[in-house]
Amino acid sequence: VASAPVAVASVAPASAECSAPAALPLPVLGRDVTVPLVTGGEAVYAALDYAASAPALQRVWDDVAAYAPYYGSVHRGAGYLSQLSTDLFENSRRTVAEFLGCRPGDQVVFTRSTTDSLNLLAHALPAGCEVFVFETEHHASLLPWRDARVTYLDAPRTPGRAVETLERALAGRDPHGPALVCVTGASNVTGELWPVRELAAAAHAHGARIVLDAAQLAPHHPVDVADLDVDWVAFSGHKLYAPFGAGVLAGRADWLRDAEPYLAGGGASRTVARRADGGVEVAWHTTAARHEAGSPNVIGAYAIASACEALTAAGFDALVAREQELIARVREGLAEVPEVRVLSLFGDDAPRVGVLSFVVEGWNSSHFAAALSAEYGIGVRDGLFCAHPLVRTLLGGTPQEPGECGAPEGGPGERSLNAIRVSFGAGT
Ligand code: PLP
Repeated sequence: VASAPVAVASVAPASAECSAPAALPLPVLGRDVTVPLVTGGEAVYAALDYAASAPALQRVWDDVAAYAPYYGSVHRGAGYLSQLSTDLFENSRRTVAEFLGCRPGDQVVFTRSTTDSLNLLAHALPAGCEVFVFETEHHASLLPWRDARVTYLDAPRTPGRAVETLERALAGRDPHGPALVCVTGASNVTGELWPVRELAAAAHAHGARIVLDAAQLAPHHPVDVADLDVDWVAFSGHKLYAPFGAGVLAGRADWLRDAEPYLAGGGASRTVARRADGGVEVAWHTTAARHEAGSPNVIGAYAIASACEALTAAGFDALVAREQELIARVREGLAEVPEVRVLSLFGDDAPRVGVLSFVVEGWNSSHFAAALSAEYGIGVRDGLFCAHPLVRTLLGGTPQEPGECGAPEGGPGERSLNAIRVSFGAGT
């Protein structure tokens, strides 16, 4: 170990130190990818689908590439590369905790995605836990609570109504039993910001806890767990410019520590021994490792930490300012087309991140989105965005049965029962 390869020195401390502030726009991969058009020509691809999956930051790619030759097992070896990888993984956890403003004692669990994080929390709910969730949520926040008593809250039409609706619902519950509120920070359909701080205060005033789905918020705004006073936060690496298959659940340790391991296996177990009765006695870890059985995704975790550092170094103030400029330009452009209707729950002027959905009267949204790609090389999302109840409310109709989270079929000229979404961020 003392005579480590020279190059490792440039890899090992990378997660512990910030590089110099990056100039805006924060460079991302794929900006010069050209795509064929149906017209026979080609275009530089315009990726406007960050809300689904954002491109990797150049910095993330560079960090991952520098580490890759030194890849080794995590928590499972005495060799140098294993030690290096273990350090990188655990340093990444600390970097994410810092990025999220975690409190002392909070745990940062590496998962596969926001969906995985929220399913882990659903798995860790105490017995008898009630769950309160707005019907406007992404399916990842709406659906994991299958074993709990769930109250689905109607779509509020202002942020203030959201708080009132939650307060009313919580007022009717038994204040002594456990309860969890699940709320998104920024809508994946409208981009609108939700009043997280106020909802957290309402939850706590009624003895409930709150988890923040920050899948769409964290790439655009600072998320400070302690300052917002949320109990947990979940987000995905691939929406935070770190597309290597990892996500995060961070927050209070107690429910996680008290729950059975999410996956049973090596890494989650501290000791395993045969019992006299022939069975097996397992002592599980009480740290984040309890829910990280199996060999962890060190590259995914390191990529997230690298993105956290890059975003912090670039500065969210500058990122937000640039994004607001872009939102204004998109809105101006869309306003010139009278057939366009931008979707909004809280009203046209509601603050939002760089995510906008719209319909074009007389057009089937899927056909419109396909034409943008085929004729102009512009990649947008069409469909119901894994938020069927919300899109149904916003469109004022009942979507046809779609495939998975996708678009319903429909002929040209039909009223759109799905929408088009443009979304952008760093590097746009
Ligand atoms: N929550 C929100 C608000 C989202 O937009 C998404 C994905 O679009 C998710 C959760 C689920 O994220 P993932 O697919 O990475 O699990």
